[in-house]
Amino acid sequence: MPKTVEPRKIAATKAMKGFMDAYFNSLMGPEAEKAKIAWCTSVGPAELLRALGFRVYFPENYGAMLGATRMAGETIPFANARGYSPDICSYLTSDIGSYLKGDGPFRKMGFTGPPQADVLVYNTNQCRDVKDWFEFYAREWNVPCIGIHTPRGIGEVDKPVIDTVTRQIEGLVRPLESIIGKRFDIDRLREVIALSRKCSELWKEVLHTAANVPAPLSFFDGTIQMGPAVVLRGTQEAIDYYNILLPELKERITGGIAAVDGESYRIYWEGMPVWGKLKSNAVQFMELHTAVVASTYCNSWIFEDFDPDNPFESMARAYSNLFICRSDGPKEAYIARMVDEFKVDGILYHNAKTCPNNSNSRYDMPRRLQEKTGKPYVVIDGDLNDLRLYSEEQARTNIEAFVEQLAQQ
Ligand code: SF4
Repeated sequence: MPKTVEPRKIAATKAMKGFMDAYFNSLMGPEAEKAKIAWCTSVGPAELLRALGFRVYFPENYGAMLGATRMAGETIPFANARGYSPDICSYLTSDIGSYLKGDGPFRKMGFTGPPQADVLVYNTNQCRDVKDWFEFYAREWNVPCIGIHTPRGIGEVDKPVIDTVTRQIEGLVRPLESIIGKRFDIDRLREVIALSRKCSELWKEVLHTAANVPAPLSFFDGTIQMGPAVVLRGTQEAIDYYNILLPELKERITGGIAAVDGESYRIYWEGMPVWGKLKSNAVQFMELHTAVVASTYCNSWIFEDFDPDNPFESMARAYSNLFICRSDGPKEAYIARMVDEFKVDGILYHNAKTCPNNSNSRYDMPRRLQEKTGKPYVVIDGDLNDLRLYSEEQARTNIEAFVEQLAQQ
């Protein structure tokens, strides 16, 4: 039988596991008993929550765990039966389904389940689903659900946008103070913002190592390595972790060690991962000697605007400058820059059926970008968590044909 290739392991991942375990313990272990827990959307105002002393839980991270472990397939139907459509965000349906079923990856880790929130804080910069998601738990637990309504499809992140978002973030302070029973301290917020900024800079450096030919890490590695940038930004631990990971990747560059042996082609991944197929996607690309070197998704946790001297406004800027809440013009300019910077040969668009917000193949962007960059593209139909919407055979065939097309060029 031919030997299948295995993704090259990153040694630092062991240390990441330690940081992530400690984080989960701080939320669900015995020492969490007296802590106040805030649920936060993945690009929500985590810095403000940390500065006030909340322990911050990100349910989208758990959504990804449900997808990666393929438990989502068992939990989604529970949410569907409750009335949450199979057409809406499958993080939402996986997570609410997991709650209704009373099962999920946290149980397998020895916890009773996700931590119960004292407050749920959203930012609709990414989608409306996050608010609907959090409101389910607000009703279940009779706790407040508050948040920020960021405009979407933003062309220029101008003063009116920044002003409205800044005022909304400031408006969260009072209610959060009364929930935690503590006064807000602006100097603490400055410290947390400085930590988030540092984490962001390191995460950007990590991802940027893949601009090297051959790339020392792939998109599939990035989806795992991004954990601390998502859930631990604003803490020293995230910085400590990327200070372990980065030297390892630099060593790979010096030693000419590639994530994909015999790297011949380089691809940009636009859209979300198919969490339940991470490994099989990674292996297929390795077999095709093709490195997926950059992605919109992993880059979404690079926030270049954080400024401790201007905490509220810089948070508004950081969380409104995101790819996901911009209009197609800035999105295309961004991808074109990435194609150039990462020496990309072609673009793969993942059309995730239950997340229109992270699917950019639906309004003619692929063709426009091909005209602009001269790079071919392929569209893969699938989903982040709902594997009923993903045909492995079709995706494999499309990817193979795409790499053949790159070879012919
Ligand atoms: S952006 Fe997409 S995947 Fe993320 S919460 Fe919203 S609908 Fe779900």
